[in-house]
Amino acid sequence: MPEQAALSGIGVCAGVAAGPLLRIAAVPALPPPAPVADVEAEVGRAVAALAAVVAELTRRADRATDATVAEVLRAEALMADDEELRDGVREHIEDGKDAVHAIDAAFAAFREMFEAAGGYLAERVADLDDLRDRAVASLLGLPMPGVPQPGHPYVLAARDLSPADTADLDPGQVVALVTEVGGPTSHTAILARALGMPAVVTCPGILDVADGTLVLVDGATGQVGVGVDEATAEAAIKAAETSAAAAASLTGPGETSDGYAVKLLANVGSAKNVPAADEAHAEGVGLFRTELLFLDRAHEPSHAEQVTAYREVFAAMAGRRVVIRTLDAGADKPLPFLNQEGEPNPALGVRGLRIARQRPEVLTTQLAAIAEAREGIDVDVWVMAPMVSTVTEAAAFAAAVHDAGLPKAGVMIEVPAAALRAADLLKVVDFLSIGTNDLSQYTFAADRMCGALADLLDPWQPALLQLIGICGEAGRQAGKPVGVCGEAAADPALAPVLVGLGVTSLSMSPRALPAVRASLAGLSHDDCKRLAGLAVAAPDAAEARKLVS
Ligand code: PEP
Ligand code: MG
Repeated sequence: MPEQAALSGIGVCAGVAAGPLLRIAAVPALPPPAPVADVEAEVGRAVAALAAVVAELTRRADRATDATVAEVLRAEALMADDEELRDGVREHIEDGKDAVHAIDAAFAAFREMFEAAGGYLAERVADLDDLRDRAVASLLGLPMPGVPQPGHPYVLAARDLSPADTADLDPGQVVALVTEVGGPTSHTAILARALGMPAVVTCPGILDVADGTLVLVDGATGQVGVGVDEATAEAAIKAAETSAAAAASLTGPGETSDGYAVKLLANVGSAKNVPAADEAHAEGVGLFRTELLFLDRAHEPSHAEQVTAYREVFAAMAGRRVVIRTLDAGADKPLPFLNQEGEPNPALGVRGLRIARQRPEVLTTQLAAIAEAREGIDVDVWVMAPMVSTVTEAAAFAAAVHDAGLPKAGVMIEVPAAALRAADLLKVVDFLSIGTNDLSQYTFAADRMCGALADLLDPWQPALLQLIGICGEAGRQAGKPVGVCGEAAADPALAPVLVGLGVTSLSMSPRALPAVRASLAGLSHDDCKRLAGLAVAAPDAAEARKLVS
């Protein structure tokens, strides 16, 4: 890598930051087996390595500011502090293995047991692998794999970030994220948006940059300057801060420069996210992901429990609109109580609204809970279903919503078949909300979690925009709202394109909202339509971006 270079990737969270680059320490490779001279000394070494892992995880748990993160770390520490695990390690050493290989073998046995048990335990095998890597690193005197904790601000570089890596990422130290792979809907992207941290994914070459090199990250354009000088970095940060401050000072309802209204809404998972939505002056909630409340549940949440959870959000949003989505279980959001065991391809399986084919009572219970939760609160509740493919499904859902006494029923557009039939769907429902994360995945036959296919999942893909345009036009003709609530809505450069395609509301992570509001305020509705035309006609996503910018 030359001393000064520019790398480019996909910007997934706008903002500019600079700092020395540090990589996630690599997973240690196992050295060749070594003979064991003193069994007890070797057992002592192995046990000490496990204890070091427990101590490090406990220290991180104590320091974590988020209660869930602390809980996850303590649960991992507990797994490493297991008597049976130590016994297993001892047995392998007595059988002639050195400490490193005994630890590897003992964890492998646990891994097999967890996998055979299935369900929740099977999902913990990544934690086991992480613990083994940590213990091996400790034995070999290498840095613990995972996010560095240097005690000063830096830019974190990685191939991709796993949920474990991100669990206790300290926003006080990490100023920006850059990954070599990882798509716009990867964990890295989701985390970055939640933290409002500049981030670039799919940035080839970033792992060739030497640790400590000063890099300048622009999360809007996806550009990463390598080996920049301090003055350049400072000037770029200052300019970005000035425009962010200007964006934050705009507070009214979303509209273009000529007054064309575009509702700007927030995506939430619970009432905990409402203060951030308020801070961003969101006009309401455009996507309440109800499944996030119940991700760890072995049993279906009761009617009463659901009423309480939904009511909290409705009360906090009194006077505004809340678009609540019925449970979107399956594939990337498995709910243990609705587990579809043995599906060969869960993303193409019984997920979202399709679960009502087998478990209709789950949907009717949820709709009844939503209806009861809004009683006595002045809140405009709209209800929508995920993963709808046909008009028949949409009509049945709308009937169920109305039967529950709820006035507004809509569907998400996440499947190309639904986008193509938008006009027919709008004959049976009141509104559409386009889930671009899934619509990308199903349009391009590219798993949304597959970093290697990030270019296909880019929301600037002209074919995706064309499908959005079909929905926008259908909405215009029917005089009904068509929103976007996938990650595409959070991109300030793409927002005008979406509006030009006929989208009437944009729902996003609250932190993204001020920049989107400012972007729309700077263009007329005709400008938006012109930009939409350019983007749809472009040969690929990169060209679309370039033409619009
Ligand atoms: C989407 O698919 O774009 C969406 C908003 O739903 P989720 O990301 O929760 O699947
Ligand atoms: Mg979806």
